[in-house]
Amino acid sequence: MNANQAGSDLAAAVAHTRERTELASRMYEAMVKDRKMLRGHLLLTYRCPKRCAVLHVLSTPQGVIFGWPRYKTAPQTTEGQSSPSGRTANTEDGHRRWKRRASFSDSVANAPVRCDHLMHVLELAEIQSDLDDEHYPRDVVVSR
Ligand SMILES: [Zn+2]
Repeated sequence: MNANQAGSDLAAAVAHTRERTELASRMYEAMVKDRKMLRGHLLLTYRCPKRCAVLHVLSTPQGVIFGWPRYKTAPQTTEGQSSPSGRTANTEDGHRRWKRRASFSDSVANAPVRCDHLMHVLELAEIQSDLDDEHYPRDVVVSR
């Protein structure tokens, strides 16, 4: 394989991941708007100790989707934990209303979760071991 070909393979892989992520986002969007559908796909809901939902793990025919609900951070948390460019790209109001987003589990390395009470990164192995206990759907409280 020459460098050009490697470059175009990489570009194709990136485009493929982007399309999959857009698909995951559209599916998650549809599920959030229809609670019954969400319920039907839901495996796990990770929650902060104060019960905010910080991550949905959903089973779909196309693969497992991680869905991050939209959330709002307090002004002091917002300023301390994010950059202006991050806020512009990822919030609805350019400030502290963070957009809903989703990805297929096979296209992420881990799952950062946060709300006003929590800032944590869930490792895939951790989520996998929560999935091994086949009681669905259920809540998992993230205590750190
Ligand atoms: Zn919370």
